[in-house]
Amino acid sequence: MHDHPTSQDQDQYEWPVCVTPRCGRQLWASETGRWACRPCEDATQQRITELPALFRRLDTTAALMREARRPGGRSSSGSKTPPIPPRLDVLNLVGPGGVAARLQAIEDAWRRVLGWTVAPWRGSPAQAVPGLAGFLGNNLLWACSSYESVGQDIDDLRRLHGECKALVDGERKPGRVQIGNCPVRVADRLCWTPLTASAASHRVRCGGCGARWETLGEWRELRAAQEQALAEAAGVAA
Ligand SMILES: [Zn+2]
Ligand SMILES: [Zn+2]
Repeated sequence: MHDHPTSQDQDQYEWPVCVTPRCGRQLWASETGRWACRPCEDATQQRITELPALFRRLDTTAALMREARRPGGRSSSGSKTPPIPPRLDVLNLVGPGGVAARLQAIEDAWRRVLGWTVAPWRGSPAQAVPGLAGFLGNNLLWACSSYESVGQDIDDLRRLHGECKALVDGERKPGRVQIGNCPVRVADRLCWTPLTASAASHRVRCGGCGARWETLGEWRELRAAQEQALAEAAGVAA
């Protein structure tokens, strides 16, 4: 469809620009023939390089959340204040449809265009992500130079990296995850200061009495102590 059918092609000539959405930089003479500009390639390479470490961080957080929610305390009934609420956004990114699947989709597309065989099975998401990032990093220059649809992949990688980084950085802020109250007795009274977890360090420290819980075993003890304190409080009230 042409809104201006009288316009001539010569007047319409446009200098080639980068295909990445929202980039649109004019390509330099030295970038002739490329689809995506060098700054987009460099930024994408950096993101691909950082993704495995970001994934490992989220995977560890997800493992701790799953472990801490497993029943195992003295109370067999469900706790009113589960120490670690599940973070569905984290679980989704480390799960089968998350980071690994999204990188795999890009690798599959590149392999099709290159005429290469399908990617080897690389195992669980945690096992696969380093290999997927390695493949994309090794072939990024080819994609920026020769793959017409690379702009969409660059945009997908930017969003994926952004989602992971926001979660990892967000978890560093104290108070991000509410995990119930401190069950430590101080001078025969419950401390009961609200506790928060910083998943980046997997360390809980009570701001009231200074008690610390750091390992998975200690997190379980924390949960058991919280449940016992709640049960005792309920018993007193009854
Ligand atoms: Zn660009
Ligand atoms: Zn305390």
